[in-house]
Amino acid sequence: MLKKIAALAFCLAFLAPCAALAGQVKALKVTVLSTMLADRGLGEWGYSALVEVDGRKFLFDTGANPDVVLKNAKSLGIDLSEVEDVVISHNHDDHTGGLISLRRELMKKNPRAMSRAHVSANIFLPRLKTDGSDDNGLTPLRAEYERLGGRFILHEDAAQLEPGVWFTGPVPRKYPETNWSTDGLKLHTAAGDVADNVPEDAALAFSTPEGLVVLTGCGHAGIVNISEYAQKIAGPAPVFAVIGGLHLFAKSDDVVDWTGTRLRRLGVRYLLAGHCTGIEATLRLRAALGLTRKTAPVSSVGSSFTLGKGIQPGDIAA
Ligand SMILES: [Zn+2]
Ligand SMILES: [Zn+2]
Repeated sequence: MLKKIAALAFCLAFLAPCAALAGQVKALKVTVLSTMLADRGLGEWGYSALVEVDGRKFLFDTGANPDVVLKNAKSLGIDLSEVEDVVISHNHDDHTGGLISLRRELMKKNPRAMSRAHVSANIFLPRLKTDGSDDNGLTPLRAEYERLGGRFILHEDAAQLEPGVWFTGPVPRKYPETNWSTDGLKLHTAAGDVADNVPEDAALAFSTPEGLVVLTGCGHAGIVNISEYAQKIAGPAPVFAVIGGLHLFAKSDDVVDWTGTRLRRLGVRYLLAGHCTGIEATLRLRAALGLTRKTAPVSSVGSSFTLGKGIQPGDIAA
């Protein structure tokens, strides 16, 4: 009861789209299906993870190459045809490249497989190159996905997809984290062209009895911004596990150390970082967080996080 009163006070204090009083997930497993490192399956510059939560399945991002997630799932003995909801974190083609082939292949077994794609509403904004052409990685796939019966579900704000399962939608950029490398791409706005800071970048946040789990694709919004926003929408609990790409590979030691210090304050006890986090940055974050090779391995294809059990690393990263 005291917990609920505290949660209600938090909601009122922050005027957040708060569901701290809403459900918590009881069972959660996140299995990585695309990242750079692989000891079974194929590595690639991309990201994808299967989320199994209280009997429901989501695919978070779809990898870079059209067939890598399909092949990796097969080599791991995972049947993706039961997955009807895809979550796309942002427009980049290393997260969207598998969408069409996944839908096309899996709908043969289940017509509803991969038929709903949850995205931030601003994901289709044009990303303008200097010659004026659009470099958006999802826009070219839109018509084909819809022709195959897929439907984009556009979220303006945070949304609870299942009790305790939150899609963040666009994340407020409270801290000046610049964890992207969009190479001069511009966004066209009423105030003129501005640098593309990947405004649609979204994550998943899970409210569990142990605290919050955050799953991010590239973390372009900044993992500290994402984690603090997760607390705002999913409830005032420690962020005890962070999974995914944090886009710190090209950042200075100072930036990585700042990130580690902030994540430690937020309560991170498990880090399953992969993809664009960078191997050096992952090891540096591990040290800053006071974690170990068991609680902060480099993520590989097939590595997983299970609520109540922690991280199962692949052989190469164990
Ligand atoms: Zn990206
Ligand atoms: Zn990426």
